[in-house]
Amino acid sequence: MTAGRVRSRWTGPALAAAVVLGGVLATLFVVAGLRSAQHDGSQRVMDQRAQMALAAVRAETDRYRTLLATTAAGIAAGDELNWADFDLASAPLASAGLIGAVAVAYVVPVTTAQIPAAQAHWRAAGASDLTLRPEPGRDDHYFPVFTRMLNEQDGAGRTGTDLGGVPQPAAALRAAEQTMRPTVSDTYVLVRDRGLPAGRQQQSFVFAAPVWTRANAPVFRGWVVLGLRGGDFLAGVLDTVSQGQLDGSLVAVNNDGSRAEVARLSVPGDPDLSRVDPVPVADHVWELGLRADSARLPGAGSRLPAIVLTGGLILTGLLGWLVLVLATGRARARARVEQATAELRAAEVESRRQAGLLGAIMTTLGDGVSVVDGDGRLLLENPAARRLMGVGDIGGHPETWQEHYGAYRADGVTPMPLEEMPLIRALHGEQTDGVEVFIRNAGRPDGVLLSVDGRPLDPSAGLRGAVAVSRDITDLRRYEKDLAIFAGVVAHDLKAPLAIVRGHCELAIEDHGDEQELQYSLSRIIRSVDRMDTLIETLLAYSTARDAPLRIGDVALEPLIREVLQERAAALRGSGPEPEWSVEPLPAVRADPAMLRHVLDNLIGNAFKYVRPGAVPRATVTSGVAAPGWARIEVSDAGIGIPDPDKARIFESFHRAQGSAAYAGTGLGLAICQRIVDRHGGEIGVEDNPGGGTRFHFTLPAAAVGEDDTMNHIPAEPVGDEDAEVRAALDRALAERAAILDSRLPGMGALPSAAPSSHDPAAARLHAPVPDHQQQD
Ligand code: ADP
Repeated sequence: MTAGRVRSRWTGPALAAAVVLGGVLATLFVVAGLRSAQHDGSQRVMDQRAQMALAAVRAETDRYRTLLATTAAGIAAGDELNWADFDLASAPLASAGLIGAVAVAYVVPVTTAQIPAAQAHWRAAGASDLTLRPEPGRDDHYFPVFTRMLNEQDGAGRTGTDLGGVPQPAAALRAAEQTMRPTVSDTYVLVRDRGLPAGRQQQSFVFAAPVWTRANAPVFRGWVVLGLRGGDFLAGVLDTVSQGQLDGSLVAVNNDGSRAEVARLSVPGDPDLSRVDPVPVADHVWELGLRADSARLPGAGSRLPAIVLTGGLILTGLLGWLVLVLATGRARARARVEQATAELRAAEVESRRQAGLLGAIMTTLGDGVSVVDGDGRLLLENPAARRLMGVGDIGGHPETWQEHYGAYRADGVTPMPLEEMPLIRALHGEQTDGVEVFIRNAGRPDGVLLSVDGRPLDPSAGLRGAVAVSRDITDLRRYEKDLAIFAGVVAHDLKAPLAIVRGHCELAIEDHGDEQELQYSLSRIIRSVDRMDTLIETLLAYSTARDAPLRIGDVALEPLIREVLQERAAALRGSGPEPEWSVEPLPAVRADPAMLRHVLDNLIGNAFKYVRPGAVPRATVTSGVAAPGWARIEVSDAGIGIPDPDKARIFESFHRAQGSAAYAGTGLGLAICQRIVDRHGGEIGVEDNPGGGTRFHFTLPAAAVGEDDTMNHIPAEPVGDEDAEVRAALDRALAERAAILDSRLPGMGALPSAAPSSHDPAAARLHAPVPDHQQQD
């Protein structure tokens, strides 16, 4: 797997993770921002509420103080104070809705001695049931003489109780008298509340305003005292401001510096915000403590952060999932595209390989292949087809094919009708095999006979068309023709000696009494049998020269030629003038020694044979000028010569020149020579010998320089099974022939023998003596 694939595999999840991380961070950031804004908001709200509460407490305490001062001023205006004056002066307090206020009273200072008089005085002034109850053990007493209840629940007002015995109000009264200003007492439990259960008792306090006459020399008369319950006061004041969201505590700082909680107000929640502010109350400075649960404050207790957090996380999750699906989907799609591309590439490589293979096959095929489409346009033609047809395609309509390609029937003269052409028949759906078409045109002036198979194009090709496969059968036909001639000639040539043998056998039977006649007949029989034997020998040589495998080696020419000349001369000895011959120095060549010997034997045999009766047979073997790497050997004689018209044809099988009828022969010898020379890559020809007679020449590859000259060295040419079979068959045939020769009648051994040289099995393959009979039977 490539790094790119690994990268792309993890790209999707990584992208999704990044999106999720980013989303979570953004959500947390927003939530934190919101929380911070909420916190700020709640602080602001808390500040506002604290200010409002503070202002409310201040305003309320100020109002008490002011009202009290006003009441005190009203009371001070009259000369003699009675209940009606007090009632009138305190009436505004009753209707002022003072929160937490219990009662307002007029308190007068009385010494112990003055008590009876004071009691009588105030009873007379309106407090009819007043009974002054002084605190024992002290001389200064402070008695409420008129009391106005401000809260209906508290019942009737009390008078006559000595406040001098209660330290907190007593201190406030004294301070008010001395300072001539309203004062506030330290906290304590109201005397009237002291009978209540402890849980219901509240810390309370009193405002005291001194009453001084307005005379030029003011006289102190007493105090207007307003009693308040701290808890009720605080609850009442904060009720409106806090709206149930603020805890409050009012702490009084007493004269001795001690701190006492006047009241505490608790609301539900978990307070996390707090403010402590000083509150001036008359001559004291108290502390107002406020606490609140930010979550419960308006605008601060929103669930927005939670909603944003939840929504943000859900959105982030969805976005991450979407990105993952999209990214991995893209990766999957890319992977599919890559796979498809790879398959396509592989298919392309495979089809290129197939096309290359097909092209190579087409190029190497020996048979011509031509493919045309449904309209007869050439689609494909391999080199063999072009070579066979001689001319290239001109892209013409099939009507022009006959003329363009020079297509004829097998007779070579009748123009091939269009409807007989294999490609046209294949286009009509017909399959044809072995249709013979003769092609002759500028490219094939000699003409070539083709065997053509035609087939409709296979439907898998995807288009209509036809394919033709052609092979050259010119040589095959020629060979078949040769074989027919060959068979005819052989039949004829074998029939003649057989007829002679039969005739002489009959004569011998009829004339068995005449010894001389019998001898004559038997000798004719033997000669005829020899002719047949020679003919068969030649036929074997012909076959061998054509098909037997070559065993190429370096051959020293000169000794070989001398040997052949000597053998030929020896065979003729006694039958006429002694043959004459000469050999020039000759180069070594590369050839099959046995076949080369046959060529030389044939040419030298003919040179000694085709001479006028009585003339001296003469043969000269020389070396001619040849191309580099080649040797040219010339065999000249002083014989009868060959007429010019025959020169071109004497190498054909069975052709015999004019004037040769008197000389024994089959007409196969030179055909064998040509075949052998051809197989060695050389050329053979004939011309007149300038001095009279004939000169044959042939060429062979020259032996490699520096190599040993040896005719006996027969290099092993790779021999296949097929070659071995051919050789074995030939050896068998020769062995059979030797057996036949050995079993001849006694006395026949002196007759010319065609037995193979026993010392040279290779030579034996071609040991077919050139027909050298001078006589015809
Ligand atoms: P054959 O000698 O058996 O007839 P060849 O193939 O050897 O067959 O020769 C073919 C013909 O060529 C001979 O029949 C003869 O007419 C002619 N020929 C060959 N060699 C010579 C020669 N040296 N001189 C004259 N004619 C020759």
